[in-house]
Parts: sequence; C-alpha cells; structure tokens
Amino acid sequence: MDPLLLGQRVIAILETGLRTATYKLATLMALLEHCIENLPDRPDEMLKVPLSELAHRVLDVYWHQVRPFDGHELRQSTQPRARILIAANALRAASGRLAGSVYVARLRAPADYAKAINEVVLCLAQQPLHRLQRLPGSSTSDPFLYDDSFLHDHITRSTLREHDDAIELKPGVAYGLARLAGLLKPALEIMWVEDVRRMNKFLDAEVPDVAGHLFGRERTTLAAVREPFKEAFGPHCFYCGAHVSANNPIDHVLPWSLVGIDGLSNLVLACTPCNSDKSGALPAVRFVDQVLQRDRETLEQLAVALQWPTQHDRVAAAARGIYRGQPAGVLTWSGFKSVERLDISFPPPWIGS
Ligand SMILES: [Zn+2]
Repeated sequence: MDPLLLGQRVIAILETGLRTATYKLATLMALLEHCIENLPDRPDEMLKVPLSELAHRVLDVYWHQVRPFDGHELRQSTQPRARILIAANALRAASGRLAGSVYVARLRAPADYAKAINEVVLCLAQQPLHRLQRLPGSSTSDPFLYDDSFLHDHITRSTLREHDDAIELKPGVAYGLARLAGLLKPALEIMWVEDVRRMNKFLDAEVPDVAGHLFGRERTTLAAVREPFKEAFGPHCFYCGAHVSANNPIDHVLPWSLVGIDGLSNLVLACTPCNSDKSGALPAVRFVDQVLQRDRETLEQLAVALQWPTQHDRVAAAARGIYRGQPAGVLTWSGFKSVERLDISFPPPWIGS
C-alpha cells in the first residue's frame, strides 16, 4: 500500500469522534515501534505481531504515565476500571518503584510480569485491536492493517491461542508504518495529550507540561548512568569529545521521540550544546556505528551493576528499521550546528543488504 494513503487512513480512524480510552493510541504507538524494530526485508512483506510483544510495548508506554501528576493519578479512560493502567500499577508495585522500565520489571519480578502481560493481551484483543479499524459511527470494520475478524469483546485466551496469539499485518503495512513513524508518532502524542486533558477536568490550560509527563523522560532515572558512564568511557561528550560538566545531559542516540529505547546501548554522555542542538533529529550514520561498537563487555557489566539492560539487539534492530526506511539524501545531524545527507551506499553491517 502507498505509505501516504496508509497514513491518511490511520489518521482518519483516529481523527473523528471522542475516544473513551487512550488504548487505541497506545496500540498504534506500539505497532509503530514494533514495525521499526522488525522491519521486513521487502517492502511488500506481511509481518506477524505476537500479542505478548505488543502488550509489552503498550505497558512500556504507560509505565511512566501512571506516576502521579500534580498529586493526581491521571485518568486515561472514561470507564471506572482501566485494565491496562491497573496492570501497569500492579507491576510497578511488585517490581519496586525505581524500575525504570518494563524491561527492568521483567527481570525483577518475572511472575508478576507474566501476569500483567496476560491481562494486557486479553484487554488489547477485547478492546482496541478489534475497534481500531472501525471508522467512528460505522458498525463495520475496514481491516486495512490486519485481519480482525476473529477478535471481539468477549474473546478468550484459548481462542487467541488458536490464532497463534498474534495478529498479522497485511502486505506493505509494516514497511509503510515504519516509514511513517516519524510523522505519525508526534500526531499520536498530540491526540493523546488532548484526550488526557479531556478526561481530567482539573487540568486546565494553566497546568504545566502534561505532554512532558506523558512522553518526556524521567531525568532523575537517567542520572543513574552518568557516573558509571564517565568511569567507563571517560567524561567526554560522545559527539564532539568536549569535557562534560558535572550535571551533563544523557542523550539517546536513536531519538527518544522516535523510538523510546532506554537501554544502555542507546545512551551516551553529551555536552549541553550537542544535546540541545541534536534534540529529536536523526543522527548521522557514523554515530550509530560508533555507539553500536562500544565495548559490549563493559556495557554488560554496567547492566548487571545498575540492573539496567543494554538492549543492544533492540538498538541494532531499531537502527536498521529507521535507516533502511529513509529516502536517500535525507538530512541527518552530524554534530553541533551541522548536518549531512544520509549516504548508505556503503551500508554498515547492522543495516543489512
Ligand atoms: Zn558535544
């Protein structure tokens, strides 16, 4: 399918009507990430999406959002019981408040993690996944993303298992969504913030940074890697080599705004000018090369000491998905106040052939 048409149809299913929960937005966001990290080799390929992986990503999106905001728990549903948020809260409680992500929670509390995933899988199948492709006001579904004919309000775990616990994206959808992620993700975030404002009347226009709470990074959590990184890699900016100050930023090499990967393999020390100049831009290929070539053993040791996964394979897969999907000549950030055109005529190994 033509990516532009695909994008228009995705926006159309979200644009009209008032949502009763943010689950559809979360589901789409999780699908975008999944497509980037599992980009098929050919643009017209289908892609199977295991529901447990989708559930993991959805939980990860809500992970930071369920923290109290201004002393309140934010509502994300007009229903009295928001199943996914309840599952996220239960897992947070079981794995310790400081678990920075669902990946850490899975390591610390595997049984509680399995329980949460199971609940979210069922909720996704019963609610957003079978309503996502229905235009508001229409009673029939227009399954342009995946076949949803087996999904319904009361589907059971055993029926899901008969369908391999997965949905399958139609030909061209995975590649198209990965290419569109840079456009769709910010649009989803804007809709999400609007929904949360509507569902939480105490948030008047004066209330600060709801978007930051929902989609920003918890800087206090990231700070835990600063000193260990300085010891392991030296107190220098990853991009320009300048000596970094005491409270220098931690930067996500693959932009946080595009793929929310917090693994150590995606994190570097940066100076403030480089960090703010780069912002959400796509970095030049050589920076991705360099970050993937850092000493694996050192990173794995840090991962054990900090209880913080490196997610090396995930970073490599996302890098492949992002750069393969880019049109030739797109501008990338190549250092403070400088850009260069993407050139992958000599593709690095992680990009594939
Ligand atoms: Zn710098």
